[in-house]
Amino acid sequence: MQLENNTYHIQGIPVEQICKEFGTPLYVYDAQVIEKQILKLQEAFKGVRLKLKYACKALTNISILKLIRKANCDIDTVSLEEIEIALKAGFLPFQITFTPNSVPFSEIVLAVEKGVFVNIDNLQILEEFGAKYGNKARCSIRINPHVEAGGNEKIKTGHAESKFGISIEQQNEILEIYNKYNLDVMALHVHTGSDFSDVEVFMQVAEIMFELALKFKTIKIMDFGSGFKVAYKDGDKTTNITILGEKITAATKIFAQKYGSEPQIWFEPGKFIVSDAGILFAEVNVLKHSPASVFAGINTGLNHLIRPMMYDAYHEIVNVSNPEGEKSEFSVVGYICETDTFAWNRKLNQVRKGDILALLNAGAYGFSMSSQYNSRPRPAEIMIHHGKAHLIRKRETLEDILHNQIEIDV
Ligand SMILES: *Cc1c(COP(=O)(O)O)cnc(C)c1O
Repeated sequence: MQLENNTYHIQGIPVEQICKEFGTPLYVYDAQVIEKQILKLQEAFKGVRLKLKYACKALTNISILKLIRKANCDIDTVSLEEIEIALKAGFLPFQITFTPNSVPFSEIVLAVEKGVFVNIDNLQILEEFGAKYGNKARCSIRINPHVEAGGNEKIKTGHAESKFGISIEQQNEILEIYNKYNLDVMALHVHTGSDFSDVEVFMQVAEIMFELALKFKTIKIMDFGSGFKVAYKDGDKTTNITILGEKITAATKIFAQKYGSEPQIWFEPGKFIVSDAGILFAEVNVLKHSPASVFAGINTGLNHLIRPMMYDAYHEIVNVSNPEGEKSEFSVVGYICETDTFAWNRKLNQVRKGDILALLNAGAYGFSMSSQYNSRPRPAEIMIHHGKAHLIRKRETLEDILHNQIEIDV
């Protein structure tokens, strides 16, 4: 979003015009930003045989998936439904990875039958997989390296108590099953958690994974997951992907020499690709001057963007209706009957009733984590592509909320 002549634009379109045309609350995604983020990663890792597997749970809209596919990414999914959506978006089965957790073996079987590459994160499932397929199906194994990383307790996944992956300490059990069934383990996978920025920690994990890979004869891929951190506000620490690219490239070459062949390097970014591209626009319903704060109540809430309440996430807020307004402190709160604070005593350009506020960095885990709580319909989604605003999801209505309910006589 750019400020020109006192008006905020996306690809030349005034954002207030978009809000007027499609209504608020409204999710708007800038396709150019998504393409730019993908190019940044492709550039940083040009020294290795890179494949990006977009972690689609961050934002699952089919039109977005098509855009990402065209930008030469594959896709990472976590449910059978996401696999179906990916197929609908045109991904071929072999471009789809299935990285579920705590699913029954029957889901793994369904994914294999579709030709999807499965990532196994449980010894019991690995045993069942071996018994059923032997070396007739390729797979990946998700490892928990027990390295602490991650921005928030709830999104750390690599620590010892995490439910994700098979513990590195159980490598002997993994190798036993591997040898017993002659498994075609093409990839080792690790995803140490969203939101980690420290290249050194990333490399520590990579070394553990390369070390383990030497014990397998079938490795063609090293999948380092994601956790690329993006800036939510000025001064936020972010992952230096250029340095990470250099270090991963060097480590891959060393591994290739020892192993005798060079693996593909996979990453599964979600947030890095779509976070900054998305903005949630909302209108100011009311102002309330209370002793504690001046509240600006907007026409959205934790039902549409849960990250502030769930992860204490910071989202920058811009008053797009009043860019010149004098700055003072406002607490921006939602309309849900539950505490749903987007910002507490935040310096904003004078907020007035009817103003449009933009909640930035809402592309990842925004719409995809939204709900109908308080029986409020979900917002519409817009993609700005080649200078034009396209509706890519209709706003929900009361009908959608009632859709599956069955009235019985009581
Ligand atoms: C959620 C997830 C990702 C993406 O994480 P981001 O922080 O959004 O980049 C990658 N891999 C797996 C297995 C995931 O579950």
